[in-house]
Amino acid sequence: MALPQPRPGIMDIAIYEPGKSQVKGPARVVKLSSNEAALGPSPKAVAALAASLGESHRYPAGDSGELRAALGAAHTLDPARIVCGAGSDELLGLVMRGFAGVGDEIIHTAHGFAMYNIYAKSVGATPVIAPEKNLTTDVDAILARVTPKTRIVFVANPNNPTGTYIPGAEVRRLRAGLREDIVLVCDDAYAEYVEAPDYESGFALAGETENTIALRTFSKIYGLASVRLGWGFASAHIIGVMERIRSPFNVSRPAQVAGLAALADKDHMALTKAHTKKWRDIALQRLRGLGLKVGDSHGNFLLPEFPMVPGKTAAECDAFLQEHGVIIRRVDSYGLPNYLRITIGDDEEMAIVLDTLAAFMERT
Ligand SMILES: *Cc1c(COP(=O)(O)O)cnc(C)c1O
Repeated sequence: MALPQPRPGIMDIAIYEPGKSQVKGPARVVKLSSNEAALGPSPKAVAALAASLGESHRYPAGDSGELRAALGAAHTLDPARIVCGAGSDELLGLVMRGFAGVGDEIIHTAHGFAMYNIYAKSVGATPVIAPEKNLTTDVDAILARVTPKTRIVFVANPNNPTGTYIPGAEVRRLRAGLREDIVLVCDDAYAEYVEAPDYESGFALAGETENTIALRTFSKIYGLASVRLGWGFASAHIIGVMERIRSPFNVSRPAQVAGLAALADKDHMALTKAHTKKWRDIALQRLRGLGLKVGDSHGNFLLPEFPMVPGKTAAECDAFLQEHGVIIRRVDSYGLPNYLRITIGDDEEMAIVLDTLAAFMERT
């Protein structure tokens, strides 16, 4: 039988594996595998979600107008240059569909977020991989890989799963070194967690240039991963392309009202940020104390490196943690088989994961 054949590239995609959410056995499961917010969503966002359910028969606002106005006001950005999506994932896909196709190239970094590669292949474009330096985006390596076929460059800043970032000056140097017809995507999913004084989110560059888009998400610090809400800020030109190809009601009403309420709840966001920073520092010291190599992270997760010693490997640690009901993220698919990514959780979850890691490292 001659089966219907997908377009070129699609069968080359390795299906995205989300962080595990279940293990068999232990009664209590500590899930630290998807960089979700440690303290959950704002109670005000939950109330807004609940209140929206009776309106479920109504289509949502197709232009997410109220939410875009609130985002514009909160970040001092022109709402007309904002686009909302079902997670920033959808927006990554729209940029890809809008600007790249068969025969084109896109560039992402060696351990960049997995979806860049997947969406590139889904449109038949070729992902070109720029090596990193010390698990950090290397601007010169990206610039060296630009060819006449390059259409888009994706940089997650800070990056997932490495947790590293590049300073604003480096992002600007990258933009200045790219041709004007190449889109630069600043994927700033973890921007709210960053404290480094030389960090700059992509907003300024996206405001000053016609060819840069800055992406944000409500899935990470705002704790709304389940409602699927992300947004982007870019030139009228880029927004115009994305508006033409997005589906008309891409952001649900629950997502829009939850986003509005979460945005307004500055206290909850500040609490999440302070909690995350506190535990990130404690966990970093504790893991280093156990003899693990761990770099500084600017997101809500850590990426310890495990020795290639039998009994102490990342794979064995993952198995041990699972036996004890703790789920973290293997990053083999990112080419990092000796590392595990651990999301910062609440107080109880952090006590459990750190004690379980200590038990693993100290067992003989
Ligand atoms: C989590 C994540 C996203 C996707 O977030 P959604 O808004 O949930 O689609 C995008 N980029 C990076 C780097 C992420 O870690």
